[in-house]
Amino acid sequence: LSPEAEDVLDEIDEQDVDFLRLQFSDILGTPKNVSIPAEQAEKAFEEGIYFDGSSINGFVRIQESDMRLEPDPSTFAVLPWRNSEKVTSARLICDVIDTSTGEPFPGDPRRVLKNAVQRAHDMGYTVNAGPEPEFFLFEEDENGSATTTTHDSGGYFDLAPKDLAQDVRGDIIYGLQEMDFEVEASHHEVAEGQHEIDFKYDDALTTADNIVTFRSVVRAIAAEHDLHATFMPKPIPRINGSGMHTHLSLFTEGGDNAFHDEDDEFNLSDTAKQFLAGVLEHAPALAAVTNPTVNSYKRLVPGYEAPVYVAWSDVNRSALIRKPAARVPAASRIEARFPDPSCNPYLALAALIHAGLDGIENDLDCPDPVRENIYEFDEEKREEYGIETLPSNLGEAVDALENDEVIMGALGEHVSEKFVEAKSQEFEEYLVEVSEWEIDRYLEKF
Ligand code: GLN
Ligand code: MG
Ligand code: MG
Ligand code: MG
Repeated sequence: LSPEAEDVLDEIDEQDVDFLRLQFSDILGTPKNVSIPAEQAEKAFEEGIYFDGSSINGFVRIQESDMRLEPDPSTFAVLPWRNSEKVTSARLICDVIDTSTGEPFPGDPRRVLKNAVQRAHDMGYTVNAGPEPEFFLFEEDENGSATTTTHDSGGYFDLAPKDLAQDVRGDIIYGLQEMDFEVEASHHEVAEGQHEIDFKYDDALTTADNIVTFRSVVRAIAAEHDLHATFMPKPIPRINGSGMHTHLSLFTEGGDNAFHDEDDEFNLSDTAKQFLAGVLEHAPALAAVTNPTVNSYKRLVPGYEAPVYVAWSDVNRSALIRKPAARVPAASRIEARFPDPSCNPYLALAALIHAGLDGIENDLDCPDPVRENIYEFDEEKREEYGIETLPSNLGEAVDALENDEVIMGALGEHVSEKFVEAKSQEFEEYLVEVSEWEIDRYLEKF
């Protein structure tokens, strides 16, 4: 066993762990897990754990279904909640191996991100990523099902007593801290019942693992308070939706921030600007991955602090990418404001990284920042500034994805095919539905 795996075995003993959850994600980013008694940990590290991949969304057909999970010892964490029998569980995030080839399975989203990180590494960079996930807390009904009744009526940065969720948020933060998260800030967001908890940036792979963990911790602890936490991007029309702003920077192997340039007006290096240009260039295709649900596009409309127009800015928040003010060189970074928390974070980060690296490799020109409120531009003015818009629905986004070799390549053959298939089907199902809005509008009128 590796020394890291030995350390995990020691931890399991010390902390009296009863069960281990071996975790991985399907292509939609839904966590899946196999639970094993803690005594099996050594065997799991030595031989892996076999499972049937055919029942996992976006994995494989039934005749080629044998997969093996290889636990990554660096991801060991004891879960901060116990079930009713008071057993202690810990989780390990796993890589998926295709047993027919013995190679990493290309349909594993974690693998897709590892490939992106490797490309950055080959170019001499480490990728850092920091997310700002937003979510709503809703009441449950008497059967314990989620409603869309918000838990409080607080607003941006409100304090108790209006911010009734402070206790819940406190418990969520304690839970995250027990799992070694460094929580940097938490606040009530703009909408009623809406919250944000920010945790410290890390390398891209760790951040993607953290986002998956974050979403389960938030849901589990909200449920302990009889509340339903949702990362659905736009649960209520006509008020702010939930985004997941994603901060990105590249560091050199020597530990310098490759995005920082002291002498630049925005403190952004040429590398940063090329990366930014790459993200803008591929934004329509990226949207299919970073904003992957029908509902995502209900958030990406003017007027709710979510971006619609493909532009960047150092000052205003209606742009797709913002350059946040940075106190120290290490903090120079770009903030992609379009991703939402319904995305598969492995695929979203992989796609963003490839888009940016593509900008660097092709030496793309970065447009000038737009300093005015783009929501207020009319079409003519947008044309004059050369500002494109994001896809207006999932169908358009999937079309853009299919036509973008760089982003299709970022996902790889296996995932891109399954992803396009799943998302096209989702959009087609939506198109034939008749919504409540239509009934309200037309049933009595015609
Ligand atoms: N909720 C907004 C969004 O959809 C962001 C609001 C904010 O963080 N200032 O992206
Ligand atoms: Mg924020
Ligand atoms: Mg926010
Ligand atoms: Mg932000």
